[in-house]
Amino acid sequence: MTNRSQNNFYTGAGLDRATVARKQADWLAQRLAAPESRFLAVWRGQFLVASPPEGAETPEGPPVRPVYLDPGSPWWREAATLAPAFLGVEGDVAHFAVDLSSLEEGHPHLLGLGTPTELRTLAHQVDRPTASLLAYVRGLLGWHQRHRFCGVCGTVTEVIEGGHVRRCTNPDCKTLHFPRTDPAVIMLVHDGDRCVMGRQARFGQGMYSTLAGFVEPGESLEEAVAREVMEEAGIQVTDVRYQSSQPWPFPSSLMLGFHARAVTTELKVDLEELEDARWFSRDEVYQASLRRGPLDGSLRLPPADSIARRLIEDWLAGDV
Ligand SMILES: [Zn+2]
Repeated sequence: MTNRSQNNFYTGAGLDRATVARKQADWLAQRLAAPESRFLAVWRGQFLVASPPEGAETPEGPPVRPVYLDPGSPWWREAATLAPAFLGVEGDVAHFAVDLSSLEEGHPHLLGLGTPTELRTLAHQVDRPTASLLAYVRGLLGWHQRHRFCGVCGTVTEVIEGGHVRRCTNPDCKTLHFPRTDPAVIMLVHDGDRCVMGRQARFGQGMYSTLAGFVEPGESLEEAVAREVMEEAGIQVTDVRYQSSQPWPFPSSLMLGFHARAVTTELKVDLEELEDARWFSRDEVYQASLRRGPLDGSLRLPPADSIARRLIEDWLAGDV
């Protein structure tokens, strides 16, 4: 059985984001200078992973952890491309993220810290709260990288409020820019005992997943679900029900998960978007949910870190 209050992957970091305190420059300066504060290193959207010390390997594999910077290293405040971004506090300990993207690949400082590693690789080697923290950092720093200039007048923007706002430096403009999150709907369409899943050409062998798409301006979430299902699979839906959500910082989405009941059953697949879409019986999907081992062409479900998998598991459990 699933539980509606269960956290999806990439949620549950457990940090207090201190959204009021972080607006105060004095408070932030104290946290930046506090010896217990922690500074997570990020390089071009990837996290640095230290090699485990010799002999530290366990039967489950080497212990993996993202690298935090030592405040005693004199070089990193110069290497940082922007002031450390404040993430939140955990008890008395403040967490910051430091973007070291200005360092060239293979720079000795980087080599001394660890190996740059993608979140999707690292997420399953760390605990769930850490995976959530890393997703938060990837989303926030990714936004900074793509919003260095004002979208209104084109002038350079500056970072304020601990990295949670950028302000245009043009005195006649001063537009404030906030971290961006793009809503996307993702939905499992079913008719009770069968569900619709599609596959994109880039998917691994045999994998099918839920349909998904971005919400457009002037559209409710329910309308976006109905439109995307009609566009991608030619199916008319009703009874669109919200299930749960998941931050998906690849680069800046928030996935909003739904179940929807099919009114029509004839598939008309949009071959620009999908390679195939099909109806699957509950038993076929259940058998696929148990499947492990090498790919052999039989049905595979999306990975465990995805809300798509959660929507499928919830449907299997009768929680729709
Ligand atoms: Zn401006």
